[in-house]
Amino acid sequence: MSRVKNKVAMVTGGSLGIGKASAQMLAKEGAKVAITDIKDDEGKQAVKNIKNDGGEAIFIHHDVSKEEEWKNAISETVKAFGGLDILVNNAGVALDGSAEETTLEDWRWLMQVNLDGVFLGTKYAIEEMKESGGSIINLSSIEGIIGDPNLAAYNASKGGVRLFTKSTALQCAHDGYKIRVNSIHPGYIWTPMVKNYLESKGDLLEGKRQLESLHPIGHLGDPDDIAYGVVYLASDEAKFITGTELIIDGGYTAR
Ligand code: NAP
Repeated sequence: MSRVKNKVAMVTGGSLGIGKASAQMLAKEGAKVAITDIKDDEGKQAVKNIKNDGGEAIFIHHDVSKEEEWKNAISETVKAFGGLDILVNNAGVALDGSAEETTLEDWRWLMQVNLDGVFLGTKYAIEEMKESGGSIINLSSIEGIIGDPNLAAYNASKGGVRLFTKSTALQCAHDGYKIRVNSIHPGYIWTPMVKNYLESKGDLLEGKRQLESLHPIGHLGDPDDIAYGVVYLASDEAKFITGTELIIDGGYTAR
């Protein structure tokens, strides 16, 4: 119950799915948590759940693609809890389509959230953490490691997150900041993102069955499967880990 005791964490996209589970688990393990998202009602409910369980949390409205909103979210977190030790760059969006099918407008929309968001968060978190240290955790994907012909923009963004993480980890180590930076690469996790995607394709149950068959372990992941990885990388148990990629995918990329 105290693996991240008294640390201050910010989780972007924390109203739903993996971010919500990560915020809950960080709070359960003793962190004070700022949940940020564009979904206000769900975010406020997630804060209520944490408080009902005896944890500390606040909600901040925050679009990760906007630089001014990053400055505000970090300063609100520091004002509420006195610092920032953990940033989980979790907010992300998905878009299916090959390179031929994807419009420039859709490409730019996705990059603004998945890449600009991680860049801005990392940049401003380093500024806040460089004296005291910290842990930055970036949500990439198995789609940042292997290609999928129908996920051109998503593949590009998550591959970008993977190498941006390594670049930043090396810079922080080189400059003597005690900031560790790592990426997490989930397989398919049963969240609103995946449910909405399958629903848009028509057959939710058949789509789920097809996705399950791609995971050697035989089922999809739960948000908590990723939250366990987040808590580990956030905690001092991972003090020798930086610039690495934690794959949590039921064996998807083992073949
Ligand atoms: P999710 O269920 O869609 O939840 C993500 C949350 O982030 C939603 O509340 C979403 O709001 C919010 N969000 C979207 N754009 C935002 C923005 N510009 N600023 C702030 N918040 C924003 O997603 P998830 O499945 O939990 O995924 C979380 C992360 O893990 C993403 O980076 C995703 O790419 C990655 N990931 C997911 C899976 C998976 O299978 N689920 C696998 C690999 C990697 P809206 O609902 O309004 O968009």
